[in-house]
Amino acid sequence: MIIHMEKNSTPEQEKRVLERIKKAGFDYEIIHGSLGIDVIGVLGDLSRVEESYFGELDGVDKVIRISKPYKLVSREYSSRSKVVDAGGVAIGGDQLCFLAGPCSLESESQIFSIAQYLNDMGITIMRGGAYKPRTSPYSFQGMGLEGLKLLAKVREQYGLKIITEATGLHHHIDENGEREKHNVLENVIEYADIIQIGARNMKSYGFLQELAILTKENKKPVLLKRGDSSTLKDFLLAAEYIVSNGNPNVILCLRGIRTFEEESFQRFTPDIGAITVLKNESNLPVIFDPSHSTGYRANVKGVSLAAVAAGADGLLIETHNDPANALCDGEQSVTALQLKEIREKSEKIRAVL
Ligand code: PEP
Ligand code: MN
Repeated sequence: MIIHMEKNSTPEQEKRVLERIKKAGFDYEIIHGSLGIDVIGVLGDLSRVEESYFGELDGVDKVIRISKPYKLVSREYSSRSKVVDAGGVAIGGDQLCFLAGPCSLESESQIFSIAQYLNDMGITIMRGGAYKPRTSPYSFQGMGLEGLKLLAKVREQYGLKIITEATGLHHHIDENGEREKHNVLENVIEYADIIQIGARNMKSYGFLQELAILTKENKKPVLLKRGDSSTLKDFLLAAEYIVSNGNPNVILCLRGIRTFEEESFQRFTPDIGAITVLKNESNLPVIFDPSHSTGYRANVKGVSLAAVAAGADGLLIETHNDPANALCDGEQSVTALQLKEIREKSEKIRAVL
């Protein structure tokens, strides 16, 4: 439910509205408020509360019940697009945002050589998985905590912001069955500037709740990927799980969906049309991943540019210093040169928009 205050409402009247919200056992969020308070969001299960309960108070202009099942992430709740601050880098604002790096962290030299060219290009957010959600248990499962420590070194040396995936609440078990006695989620929260939640975990609701509760204080941004077989409604409700449990800093990321398409042409089907849907339905930033959605390097540029043209707030791109020998997703990883071209052309399209 959102409460619009009258233009000339007084601080006393605003205070009484906030008191009534609290008294009824709800939380609130000031959505807009430049001089005084303009719009207040009431948080909680409001199904049994009449609009008049707040509407009868002096200074209240109107009370609107949000009709969508996803409430806090909806455009109805806030017509302003959210800009998420990732350690000083804005995601969802005027600037197009680039998050690039290898699928998987492999070694210190690999990580540093990629960080070097990202930094030279002026890309400010580096991606790289320390924990990899591989389809096969025999595939490389990631470097674990050692990888996170290397990312921290990269941040220190280059000032790059770090995005890396949390795969679960469990301990890390590598491809040889070796078990690291650290909690994956807690490690990622500690080391990352942006916590990535992968497509496979989009529907792990208990995990999303735990993540939100553990980041309630520091409000570290969470990049949530769309499940490959999830509807957009389910995707927005998954985002709502995180926001309603205390972390409002969610970034939506489209990464292609499963269709009848043959994998030899496209690993997934790029869901470009979903960009405009999400921008209209939601107040959250929308990032597009052209790497997983295509699966092949040759298709990454075209789909990147299409995503920017459709209004994406940024791109999450896999890049590797030696794609042919990458331990994970080499076929879809672009070279430094290709990344540079994608970036330059994307900026031109953005400028036209
Ligand atoms: C990734 O970004 O490396 C990844 C595993 O992506 P997704 O969750 O979209 O498969
Ligand atoms: Mn990958």
